[in-house]
Amino acid sequence: MDFKPLVETFAEMEQTSSRIALTDYLVSLLKKTPPDLIDKVTYLIQGKLYPDYEGIEMGLAEKMALRAIASSSGKNLSAVEKVYRETGDIGDTAGKVMVSKAQSTLVSEAMTVERVYSTFDRIARTTGQGSQETKLRHVSSLLNDSTPEEGRYIMKFVMGALRLGIADYTVLDALAIAFTGDKANREALENAYNVSSDLGTVARLLATKGLAAVKAMQVTLFKPIRPMLAERVTTAEEALERMEGKAAVEYKLDGERVQVHKGKDRVELFSRRLEKITSHYPDVTKAAMGIKAKEAIMEGEVVAINAQTGEYLPFQELMHRRRKYGFEEAMEAYPVVINFFDVLYLDGKNKMPLPYEERRELLEKVLMGARDGMIKVVPQKIATKPEQVDRFMNQAIEDGCEGVMVKLPQSIYRAGSREYLWVKLKREYRSELADTLDLVVVGALHGRGRRVGKYGALLLAAYDKSEDVFKSVSKVGTGFTDEHLDQFYRELEKHVVHQKHARVDTGMDMDVWFEPVMVIEVIASEITLSPSHTAAKNLIREGYGLALRFPKFTGRIRDDKDPEAATTVEEVATMYKRQVRVRTGAPPAD
Ligand code: AMP
Repeated sequence: MDFKPLVETFAEMEQTSSRIALTDYLVSLLKKTPPDLIDKVTYLIQGKLYPDYEGIEMGLAEKMALRAIASSSGKNLSAVEKVYRETGDIGDTAGKVMVSKAQSTLVSEAMTVERVYSTFDRIARTTGQGSQETKLRHVSSLLNDSTPEEGRYIMKFVMGALRLGIADYTVLDALAIAFTGDKANREALENAYNVSSDLGTVARLLATKGLAAVKAMQVTLFKPIRPMLAERVTTAEEALERMEGKAAVEYKLDGERVQVHKGKDRVELFSRRLEKITSHYPDVTKAAMGIKAKEAIMEGEVVAINAQTGEYLPFQELMHRRRKYGFEEAMEAYPVVINFFDVLYLDGKNKMPLPYEERRELLEKVLMGARDGMIKVVPQKIATKPEQVDRFMNQAIEDGCEGVMVKLPQSIYRAGSREYLWVKLKREYRSELADTLDLVVVGALHGRGRRVGKYGALLLAAYDKSEDVFKSVSKVGTGFTDEHLDQFYRELEKHVVHQKHARVDTGMDMDVWFEPVMVIEVIASEITLSPSHTAAKNLIREGYGLALRFPKFTGRIRDDKDPEAATTVEEVATMYKRQVRVRTGAPPAD
């Protein structure tokens, strides 16, 4: 398949933020793609070579990328660097510089998707001494034969900067339309995606074997399952109401969610974002080998403990492990335990369709022999009265937890879904908006005074699920230490875009705009109506959105959360209504 139609589609996609138009472009691209290339094209449009859990990256240094552009375009390096300083993007630099490249007199090799993908793959797989030079040669071989527009996308991809703003759900819609003619079949595709976390494989299966094969897709050991998520509630009464009067209440530990895959002689750990994090926790990995099952997929929360008292410590303690240079040394300094709360797969059988109660029983049974100092089953109680939930919650908080998770005893495990089958009840929700929000950083103002050269304030947005965009809700400039300021600058710089990102909606004017990738936690004193922020615009009052008053960064970057897992505009609106109700004693506005 020619590389050209792919590049043309990318260019069209970059020009639009309409989800319908994006879907249409994808559908026509997928229809043009030979079935046995569908997986590769699916990964490429996501800016990847493989599913995230494979953890494969190109690893080409910026300086090498600039050299490749220089050598292919016949320009000297300093001229290329100059353009890079102006554009701030390696892909755009390639596009500009290559426009004036001398026409090659050699017969060039055809630019096909197959060739581009396999060269990318070779770049990613080249490691060790001298690998940067080898990578450079591979990149140059592609650039030598490409048009400026092709070069632009090749370099964006290689640098991990190709972001067309397409959510997984849009790709699923497009696949359903392209191969079954009916968007309603997206659900079957989504189910397969939820158990495999691998859009490419789902796409290829659909294109080559049809919908029935997708429906029959099974859970596979060492392929992460997309986690089931929880809605939030504010009172024990509401939690019990959601659970139809009888609930399983568990400690909600403040750590890192980990999906443990155990095989006969191998254990892998995946994060909530489905990245492989086995190397972060050698101690947990080793302990998990002791689980009494040939094969198992289980979920638990890894949490730091005080080795002296066994008390749970807050999330920040766990993060010390990441900051420390060697995981081995960090292991000793910051001991952890894993509290398992679910079992999804056991000895060849998918356990997700079983009700929670049965899965819990199974979990206790499997872990019976394996429970040592490090492996635990999360404390749990069945409750039928709000007082019971409250009492258990107080106990959890006393033990160092954030609150409790309340689960519907008869519920199956719904991979990838956030519904009221699980709800979280956190301590903070009890006082008026001591509630934290997890918001996406979408823009910034340049710093002044002591903050010159850094970002002075960040623009934050909540996620609007129905429109798949991020709507601004606050500017935050307090709660940052000097270290945070450095860290924000370092990490956000990579995500600067030249204008407001297509998936960002705000009435605010900022100095710098970012791709919506980073999620941070903030607290605020209350939520107010705002003429310039767009979260929940027109929902409460015509012409007004909602904004946070006195927002403050809590010190926690939620790099365990995808932007789509941030606080939603509906949640902000619910918080606003609740606050009004508390203040006036009036019934909710809706
Ligand atoms: P949040 O990150 O605030 O949306 O809360 C959901 C997270 O709580 C999950 O992703 C887990 O990391 C964590 N968690 C802690 N304890 C439990 C539990 N008993 N059951 C499920 N999730 C838990």
